[in-house]
Amino acid sequence: SEDATAPVREGAVETVDGTEIEVAANVGTPAELGPAAERGADGVGLFRTEFLFLDRDDAPDEDEQYAAYREAIETFPDGRVVVRTLDVGGDKPVPYLDLPAEENPFLGERGIRRSLGPDADLFETQLRALLRADADTDVGSLAVMLPLVATVEEIEAAETVLEGVVDDLRDEGVDAERPEFGVMIETPAAAFMADAFVPHVDFFSIGTNDLAQYVMAAERGNDAVADLGDFRQPAVLRAIDAAARAAEGTDVWVGMCGEMAGDPELTELLVGLGLTELSMSAVTVPAVKARVAEIDTEAATALAERALAAASKDEVTDLLT
Ligand code: PEP
Ligand code: MG
Repeated sequence: SEDATAPVREGAVETVDGTEIEVAANVGTPAELGPAAERGADGVGLFRTEFLFLDRDDAPDEDEQYAAYREAIETFPDGRVVVRTLDVGGDKPVPYLDLPAEENPFLGERGIRRSLGPDADLFETQLRALLRADADTDVGSLAVMLPLVATVEEIEAAETVLEGVVDDLRDEGVDAERPEFGVMIETPAAAFMADAFVPHVDFFSIGTNDLAQYVMAAERGNDAVADLGDFRQPAVLRAIDAAARAAEGTDVWVGMCGEMAGDPELTELLVGLGLTELSMSAVTVPAVKARVAEIDTEAATALAERALAAASKDEVTDLLT
């Protein structure tokens, strides 16, 4: 396919008029780090840490996590690695976590909700491992990202834990620093409240897999409602736009790490919405980089405005072809 044949491009890529767009990879296991770098990814925009916790009988200790995070940071000596804190819930079996049986696990205790509740100890251990890995590497840069945030209180509570971990590590003689800190925008609440989040974070990363499912009330992965859950739905585009507008003119950068970011046919629209980082499955990195280099941001902005004014998914699709 087109995705698999675009030549690998190393280094930062810009639009024709000089806007730099970071093109990063989503990584689910350490084995995917090297191949992502070989595909020309500028960094990791989403390191899903669930692999450390699934398919085992007890939680990984701090040192085991430290090794995995350090490897990720060192694989991208010139780039940024965005590590997402544990994102599990009742839809995944994790025997030692005692996850509740819920009728609607996607609406239950998952993501940051568990990290600030029953999994608070694990959350602290994970942050300790991350900050130690960051302190012990003098290349690359670490960013910590929270999943499924819905309220500003969740961000504040996580920030307090993070600051406590920095203080504890310093007391222990570790040269710990507050890393870049951000949240996923993957609930409608986060999109609506993004302006209130701005003072607390360095970045937003839009998780369209969950955002589309929650905005459209259409379960991800359910073929019967796939058309409703499509990223081209104008309601989904308006949710993305709400977050991007909230960050506009501030120091907060806005990226995307949901599957939508990996479709080269949507790259111009996403650049037009104001995103400056796109993170995707490594295989599509070359095709998206090639696409970015063809984009004129003024035309992209005009395209985004028309898409935001569209009344239906079909109208958006027509604009894109
Ligand atoms: C998302 O929801 O878009 C996302 C990137 O996270 P995950 O697919 O891991 O839920
Ligand atoms: Mg998600």
